[in-house]
Amino acid sequence: MTAPLRSDAVRVRAPGKLNVYFEVGPLLDDGYHAVASAYQAVSLFEEVWAVAADDFRLEVTGSVDVSAVPLDDRNLALRAARILAQHTGYEGGVHLTVDKHVPVAGGMGGGSADAAAALVACDALWRTDVGSAELHRLAARLGADVPFALMGGTAVGLGRGDRLSPALATGRFEWVIALADGGLSTPAVYSELDRLRARAVSAGHPSTGAIPLDRISGARDDDADPAVGTGVLHALRAGDPEELAAHLHNDLQEATLSLRPELSDVLELGERSGALAGIVSGSGPTTAFLAEDLESALELQVTLSAAGYTALHAHGPVPGARLI
Ligand code: ATP
Repeated sequence: MTAPLRSDAVRVRAPGKLNVYFEVGPLLDDGYHAVASAYQAVSLFEEVWAVAADDFRLEVTGSVDVSAVPLDDRNLALRAARILAQHTGYEGGVHLTVDKHVPVAGGMGGGSADAAAALVACDALWRTDVGSAELHRLAARLGADVPFALMGGTAVGLGRGDRLSPALATGRFEWVIALADGGLSTPAVYSELDRLRARAVSAGHPSTGAIPLDRISGARDDDADPAVGTGVLHALRAGDPEELAAHLHNDLQEATLSLRPELSDVLELGERSGALAGIVSGSGPTTAFLAEDLESALELQVTLSAAGYTALHAHGPVPGARLI
């Protein structure tokens, strides 16, 4: 896209994410689930331009299908700008242009990246200078994945995914991302997970015959909080793709596949075609394949493209929302 030729404009880039490990606890009374996530920021970037203005306005473009992106106050980028203005007492506005490259409603946190980018952009444009701790607090109010889009890199998220601590990761992991037609609503995927878990529990009742609880991923018979396994943390620290492949895990995957069974085909094709492992990204329907090295990733990208999938190459970890 063309740069606005204005000095009162800033440009920020924020990454999409993959959950290389995702464990979901039981449904809580407040309607949410406690989760444990190992996030990795990857090199599919959203770009947000912010231009000083008296009112708030938004335009959305991109290399992915942006037709489902709301342009009103439901848009996370616009909400981020408004929340920062409200918090700081800033009385002007902003015109935002969001250039999207992360698949929409694909489980890669594109909307969250836009929100993080808009926070950083408006803070710089308006010179409100709220500082990183305060930006993180505002980010958490906007959504569970927004703080990670600010932070980037590799991190563990607990609570709703927003209680973050950086995780040590060495080297660079090569990913191939397969886009899927249409999006999936994250709440719908969680509801499906609750339904599958409830069914497994009732089917496991002694009078109805025993189906072990662990047949449904994450359905557990204890009250332990979800946690990121040590295996995945070790693999990230070692920078070892084979070891990470053995520990990729997503509790939502079974629910996503139940709603979109055809995704099993791309997962099987990827794994048959040289991926070390494949996984549904977050709530899907995007799938992500970990490759041994750059060459294998590019070969896999060609194979998936030849089979008719839109496949992108990305690497991680990359930094969080930054002015460029
Ligand atoms: P999540 O897991 O947070 O639901 P996701 O990664 O699956 O997110 P997103 O692309 O972030 O998917 O969008 C989820 C929904 O959020 C979209 O269907 C859309 O209605 C709404 N939304 C709000 N703001 C944005 C934005 N800036 N870009 C994309 N979607 C947005």
